[in-house]
Amino acid sequence: MPVKLPYESALTVTFPDVDTVSEGKTAVVVGGGPAGLIAAEALARAGVDVTVYDQMPSLGRKFLMAGRGGLNLTHSEELPQFLARYPDIAPVLKSAIEAFPPGALRAWADSMGAATFVGSSGRVFPELLKTSPLLRTWLLRLGNLGVKVKLRHRWAGFDGDGNLHFVADGKDVSVVPDVIVLALGGGSWAKLGSDGKWVDVLGAQKIAISPLLPTNCGFTTAWSDVLRGFAGQPLKRISLTFAGRTVRGEAMITERGLEGGAVYALSSPLRDAITKHGDTTLTIDLLPDVALAKLAERLSAPRGKQSLSNFLRKATHLSPVALSLVHEGALAKGTTLAKLQGKDIAALIKAVPVKLNGVAPIETAISTAGGIRFSELDEGFMLKRAPGIFVAGEMLDWEAPTGGYLLQATFATGLAAAKGAIQFLRYSVPVKKG
Ligand SMILES: Cc1cc2nc3c(=O)[nH]c(=O)nc-3n(C[C@H](O)[C@H](O)[C@H](O)COP(=O)(O)OP(=O)(O)OC[C@H]3O[C@@H](n4cnc5c(N)ncnc54)[C@H](O)[C@@H]3O)c2cc1C
Repeated sequence: MPVKLPYESALTVTFPDVDTVSEGKTAVVVGGGPAGLIAAEALARAGVDVTVYDQMPSLGRKFLMAGRGGLNLTHSEELPQFLARYPDIAPVLKSAIEAFPPGALRAWADSMGAATFVGSSGRVFPELLKTSPLLRTWLLRLGNLGVKVKLRHRWAGFDGDGNLHFVADGKDVSVVPDVIVLALGGGSWAKLGSDGKWVDVLGAQKIAISPLLPTNCGFTTAWSDVLRGFAGQPLKRISLTFAGRTVRGEAMITERGLEGGAVYALSSPLRDAITKHGDTTLTIDLLPDVALAKLAERLSAPRGKQSLSNFLRKATHLSPVALSLVHEGALAKGTTLAKLQGKDIAALIKAVPVKLNGVAPIETAISTAGGIRFSELDEGFMLKRAPGIFVAGEMLDWEAPTGGYLLQATFATGLAAAKGAIQFLRYSVPVKKG
């Protein structure tokens, strides 16, 4: 019995056209994150009998977690600029996003009663700034479309006959659908379900997979006890520079290092440099809106009877955590602020060096780079070595910064994989199993 949805009238309007297939075809979608669910929706709309399997007790846990930060669904910039955010974008990923661009994702969210708005940075969010209402409506919609859900089913690979093999409640379960979509996610935040264990399963099938690496992640550094005491405090309106790239934004001091939007934006080159050299140095401009000469002039004024700390605080308006970072920057250069002239302190404030000695654990990363290489896929997101098996979402080998690019690629590839699966079913080629 279909459940009445609050946004019924908009349901069919915005979903991209999908061809229908003949009756009686079955699909298994493994992984109930946004990539798997959009694939399930498209397949069900095409008339396919769809079952979503997930190892967790509920679906979309990482998608819900993304809602804690407001659910940055996508970005409002022009498509060419948007596509340029994906380094070395694979042609199939580009085509998938062109076929389901940010405007289409916004319209889809709208159809779910999650109207979106463009924030000041150009990022797109649902008006309610969370995932739960959207996900609730989506699951109801999928139920109405006939999609079945099997929770607490861990996909463990293929059984002796090459059928999908799940473990549920300690028991082995074999499933033989006409078509399979794998949407198992990356390897961060394993407690939300995407534990990256599929790498061993598909690796054993000789599928080429780039190692899963943390991205949009924090870094570790050897803070002094003083700076560690500022853990949880933000450095606001700063700019970070690394390898010739400067990013404005915020960072957060953590117990063991640095995290936050501006750090995430540089995380890919920082991670690669640390992997190569063991450590690397990030430069922080604590006052990017104040010119060096102006700051030097202010800091060269006579300080009279004021203590150095008071003088610096009044002349710079920097927060205690930022000033501590400047003190530490001087120590790292083998000196102290008391020994430096105003112009040198100004130069330090405009370029505090922070030596990063490690990447924060993958468990804490927003996303992972690496995954199934695009060379393994055909144009319909099907594994060339395993006809009938399609792959989508963060388990593919693409990388992107935060800003809505992760979910946009996730949705677009989920839909592209479903369309590939639908085409495959239309030609009725039997699934070749693992
Ligand atoms: C804290 C945080 C905030 C984020 N905020 C944003 C944001 O604002 N904007 C944005 O664009 N992106 C954001 N992201 C990233 C975004 O959530 C992910 O890129 C997206 O969820 C990936 O979708 P997916 O469907 O590919 O994988 P997932 O959402 O990870 O789903 C994979 C599913 O597969 C299941 N699974 C895995 N292995 C198995 C198995 N062996 N058997 C059965 N089931 C299995 C998992 O249980 C899970 O349900 C955020 C991520 C985090 C961690």
